[in-house]
Amino acid sequence: MSGPTDSPHAAHFDAVIVGAGFAGMYMLHRLRGLGFRARVFESGTGVGGTWYWNRYPGARCDVESMEYSYQFSNDLQQQWEWSERYAAQPEILRYANHVADRFDLRRDIDFDTPIASAAFDEQFNCWRITTGTGRAVSATHCIMATGCLSSANTPKFEGLETFRGACYHTGRWPQHDVDFTGLRVGIIGTGSSAVQSIPIIAQQARHLTVFQRTPNYAVPAHNAPLAPEVQQAVKANYGDLRQRARQMRNGIAWPVTQKSALEVTREERRAEYEARWARGGLSFSGSFMDLLLNKEANDTAAEFVRDKIRAIVHDPATANLLTPKSVLSCKRLCVDIGYYETYNRPNVSLVDISALPIEMIVPEGVVVAGKTTPFDVIILATGFDAMTGALNKIDIRGIDGVPLREKWAAGPRTYLGLSSAGFPNLFTITGPGSPSVLTNMLPTIEQHVEWIADCIAHLRANQLHRIEATLPAEDAWVEKVNEIAAGTLFPTCNSWYLGANVPGKPRVFMPYIGFPPYVETCNAVAAGGYTGFALS
Ligand code: NAP
Repeated sequence: MSGPTDSPHAAHFDAVIVGAGFAGMYMLHRLRGLGFRARVFESGTGVGGTWYWNRYPGARCDVESMEYSYQFSNDLQQQWEWSERYAAQPEILRYANHVADRFDLRRDIDFDTPIASAAFDEQFNCWRITTGTGRAVSATHCIMATGCLSSANTPKFEGLETFRGACYHTGRWPQHDVDFTGLRVGIIGTGSSAVQSIPIIAQQARHLTVFQRTPNYAVPAHNAPLAPEVQQAVKANYGDLRQRARQMRNGIAWPVTQKSALEVTREERRAEYEARWARGGLSFSGSFMDLLLNKEANDTAAEFVRDKIRAIVHDPATANLLTPKSVLSCKRLCVDIGYYETYNRPNVSLVDISALPIEMIVPEGVVVAGKTTPFDVIILATGFDAMTGALNKIDIRGIDGVPLREKWAAGPRTYLGLSSAGFPNLFTITGPGSPSVLTNMLPTIEQHVEWIADCIAHLRANQLHRIEATLPAEDAWVEKVNEIAAGTLFPTCNSWYLGANVPGKPRVFMPYIGFPPYVETCNAVAAGGYTGFALS
C-alpha cells in the first residue's frame, strides 16, 4: 500500500501505531511480519506503556506472571523466566525491554514523541498525523495502542500548585527513586495503586496519612518466589493453560465455582471463601458464579471480607472506616500485600473524606474540615481517566473533520471496541466496548492485534483502501454492551469502568463483559467478510 505525502520530507506508512506498550510493540511486530511499513510513536523515553509510567513503590501486576505474558512466540514464553508469582513493575519493564530487543523493535519506534493530532484525509483515504514535536507523517491506517489506564486523573484540588513539598501521581511516577525516610507523607486515594504503595511507604515515612473517600475491598496476594519446578510444570503444558484461560470470562485460567453462592450451605460457602483467601489473588471473585449477578450472593462474599478486615485491623474505628459497604468486585478488586495490617502501625493514620472532602491544598499541606495537616510529600493515587482519556487527549478528526471527542461526548461509541463509525482506517486496541480491562490484558491485546493485522492484510489482498464501521452495526454493539452490563451488579457503584471517577465524564459502562463470546463475534465478523463494516 502506498499513499500521498504533503511534501517530499513527510513520511508515509502503511500504519502508524500510537504507543509502545505491550499493544503497540506486538502490533509493530505483527505488521512487520506481514511486510507492512509501520512506525510507532511513543511519548515516554522507553517501551512498556503502563509499566513505564507506574513506577510507584510496590507497583506489581495483580495477574500471575505466567499468565501476564505474551503467548505469540513460544520461544519467548519458554525462555523468559519469571522470578515471582506476581511480577513487580521493574521485572515487567525488563520483560518489555527484552521483547523490544529480541524482536528488534526499537528501530521503528520514535520515543519522546507524543501524538498531537490525527485527521482523516478523505481524498487520499489516509491519516495525517502530527506529533507534539512538530513532525507530520501520513499513514493508511492509524492504530491507537494508547492503553486503557494511561491518562492520569489529577483532581482539581484548589491550591495544589502552591504546595511547597514534592507532589507525585502514582501513574506518572518519576524515573528516579523517591526516598520517604523521615518524611511526613500524605496520600490521596485508596484504589489498587494506593493499596500497593501504602504498605511500602509506611515502612519508610516518619508518618503516613491516608485520605480515603471510598474504602475498597482488598484480598491478599500471597506473593512468593516462583519455584523453578512450578514454572517448568506450566511451561511443559503452556498451551493448556492458555487454552483454559481463553475459555474464561476474564481470560484468566483460575477456576470459577459453577454454583450459586446461595445454593450451598453456610459452611460450604465459608470453606470456599477461606480456600480462595488462602490461595490469594483475584480468583476470590470466582468463588461462586453469581457474585456479580445477584446482590444477595455478593453480600455473602462481601461480609466474609469485612470480617477479615475487622479481624486484621486492631482499632475498631479504623477498621470500620476501611470496611466497604458496596458490592464486592463492582470496582476492581485490589490485591494487597499487608495493606490492612499497615493500619496497625503507629505511624499511619486514616482520614475519612467521604462526607467532608479535601477543602484545599496550601503550601504546608492538606486542609480537611478546616484543619491543616502538614506534609513534606503529597501522593495523588487518584487513578485514571480510563479507556477514553488517552484517546481524547489526541485531536482525532474523522470524516468531515468531526472530532472523536465530540462524537463521544455522551460516552464512547464503537463497533467491537475496535473501530468507530465516521473514522475509517482507525483502530483502537482494547478500546471501549471490548473486554479489555475486565480481562487479563495480554491475551486481549494479542487477540486485537491479530484481528487488526488480519484485517489490514485482507484489505491489501483485495485491493481495498478503506474500512469503516457502519452506524447500524455500531449502534447495535453499543446497545449490546450496555444490555450485558445492565444484567450485572457492575453499574451499582461509582467505578472508573463507568467513568464515575472523573467529574463531568458521562456515566456509561465501557468494557464488554465476556471474553469468549467476544472473540467468537470478532472471528465471525472477519469470517463473514467483515460484517458491520463498509469496505471500499
Ligand atoms: P482508582 O482505582 O481509580 O483509585 C483512585 C482513588 O482515588 C480512589 O480511592 C478514589 O476515590 C480516589 N479519588 C479520586 N479522586 C478523588 C478526589 N477528588 N478526592 C479524593 N479521593 C479521590 O485508581 P488506581 O488505584 O490507580 O487504580 C486504577 C486501576 O488501575 C485499578 O483498578 C486496576 O485496574 C489498575 N491497577 C492495577 C494494578 C495491579 O495490577 N495490581 C495496580 C494499580 C492499578 P473513590 O473510590 O471515591 O472514587
